[in-house]
Amino acid sequence: MRRPMVAGNWKMHGTRAGVAELLEGLNNMPMSSEVEVAVFPSALHVAQVIDGLEGSGIAVGAQNSAIQSEQGALTGEVAPSQLAETGCKLVLVGHSERRQIIGESEEVLQQKFAAAQACGLKPVLCVGETLEEREAGKTLEVVGRQLSSIIEAFGVAAFANAVVAYEPVWAIGTGLTASPQQAQDVHAAIRAQFATKDAEVAANLQLLYGGSVKAANAAELFGMPDIDGGLIGGASLNADEFGAICRAAGN
Ligand code: PEP
Repeated sequence: MRRPMVAGNWKMHGTRAGVAELLEGLNNMPMSSEVEVAVFPSALHVAQVIDGLEGSGIAVGAQNSAIQSEQGALTGEVAPSQLAETGCKLVLVGHSERRQIIGESEEVLQQKFAAAQACGLKPVLCVGETLEEREAGKTLEVVGRQLSSIIEAFGVAAFANAVVAYEPVWAIGTGLTASPQQAQDVHAAIRAQFATKDAEVAANLQLLYGGSVKAANAAELFGMPDIDGGLIGGASLNADEFGAICRAAGN
């Protein structure tokens, strides 16, 4: 039985005061023990958030980590070993903003995925197609290729300790959401891709949907059989809204 998961990606948002306010909201949020909840603050706020959420049951992840596991000469980067030592449990790998704006290649993402796992961090691998690719009928080809890059490098067993987030690029931060059926179709194809290699890994894999999820559309999306929760951007910056999304995942 897969546990539902809701993860909040705070992106490059927050000040110390704003984060403190959000933490107060999260600490007062009614939680369902059935739902795994995680937040991904900016690297600058990771330590503040870990301290502020102590005892809350909410896990903290990083939005990015370095291609090598241990600390060293890599200016501007944060090693997954440093994140793990600070108390991080998860890390996003392959978010479309990093693929597209920062230009992270499949090779870089393979390195990040492996380095994170080597330090005990659980990667949340983000995959998804652009609008152009969807309109060209290439959604499953693109998503399948992004997954294959990691599966071929490390084997499907690596996903026994990873999460996959399907995030159509055209739905991220745009207010456009994939319909529950559109999202379910891709999630089912992702699970089927894993099942061709290992039925158990496929059955246990938490598959999150991301792209303009809000309290108003979460229940319908999370009600689909292969959608195990969500990766939430904008709506995770409001504790009440985020709390309502978390509760929708538990119902
Ligand atoms: C995201 O950044 O992962 C995301 C899903 O953003 P939003 O919910 O704002 O579309």
